[in-house]
Amino acid sequence: MPTKSGLQIAKIFGIPIYLDVSWFFIFALVTYLLGSEFQQNHILENSTLLWPLAATGSLLFFSSVLFHELAHSVVAQHYKIKVVSITLFLFGGVARIGREPSKAIQEFNIAVAGPLASMFLAVCFFLLTLRFPETGAIGLLALRLLGANAMLGLFNLAPGFPLDGGRILRSIVWGITKDFSRATRVAATTGKLIAYAVIAVGGYFVFHGQWERGVWPIILGFFLLNAAQASVAQIAMQETLAGLSAADIMSSEVPTINRNTSLEEYGAEVLRTGRRFHLVITDDRLVGLMNLQALNSVPRDEWHENSVQAVMIPREKILWASPQEPLLSLLERLLAADINQMPVVRESEDDGSHIVGMVTRDSILRVMQTRAEIGPLPSTR
Ligand SMILES: [Zn+2]
Repeated sequence: MPTKSGLQIAKIFGIPIYLDVSWFFIFALVTYLLGSEFQQNHILENSTLLWPLAATGSLLFFSSVLFHELAHSVVAQHYKIKVVSITLFLFGGVARIGREPSKAIQEFNIAVAGPLASMFLAVCFFLLTLRFPETGAIGLLALRLLGANAMLGLFNLAPGFPLDGGRILRSIVWGITKDFSRATRVAATTGKLIAYAVIAVGGYFVFHGQWERGVWPIILGFFLLNAAQASVAQIAMQETLAGLSAADIMSSEVPTINRNTSLEEYGAEVLRTGRRFHLVITDDRLVGLMNLQALNSVPRDEWHENSVQAVMIPREKILWASPQEPLLSLLERLLAADINQMPVVRESEDDGSHIVGMVTRDSILRVMQTRAEIGPLPSTR
């Protein structure tokens, strides 16, 4: 699954639409395949139109993929679930939603919307093929788009993570057992079986010397396998961190440093105390956050001529946590921003906000490790 967002091309219903770098490859490939087919079947009399038409067909293909993802997104938004982004990439599209649905029926409806949308498009293109014969450009294009959308709808209904069918299966098991974790494990297990089956199909072709047919399923299969495993890892993380908040593990010791301290002195302080981060203050006011990463961004021989102020994270860029924030969301924010620690701030009505502690990535990982050693806790969802 694409991790970085890629190139933003549009915003639809407030959702940013991105193209992953791998998309350009698949777009070129689909265009090439369509163009070659037009050429072989002597569809066009005017050959200058060949590649523009093939590219248009390819764009329609990816518009179909986008339509599928938008269908998921619209239903998610209906349940007040924020859709963070839609990204088109090598294997189609992926809509990232801000949180998991809170009810099984919501998950079911969000998941089923995509395949239904693709089936709807397949029917539309089928109607076009009735009107236009496949000996013409429109007819042949409609026929290919009918096939593509039918495939997209049907393959996605396979009942295993990360496919839509896996989400549908999870929502059903979740609805029946009321156990979200267990439902996830079931869908991840069937997802792995589907992935192995796809890899086996590819292997069969390769074994019979048909490389060009076999390579694609093998790559897809490993992608599916990886995603199925990731969903289990995610649920394991949710289980170990369940019920914990920032206040449970924060250290109340918050070291401070003056902003005029030179990096030379700061380095010495870090070496002496082993502390990896400090709040930067001046006249009792907080102005920033200093840490090892910021220190290391300056070459060592320039430490004496730079102060902490020059490299610290300024106050307005610091991310904060509240004592009540669940550890899982805190960890996700730390990872998303690629930072190692966050100050914990308590807001009080009468005398403003106070820094009451620090939460570090290490301390969260430590509590996960400890809890994993003790064994799973009873599910709280
Ligand atoms: Zn889908």
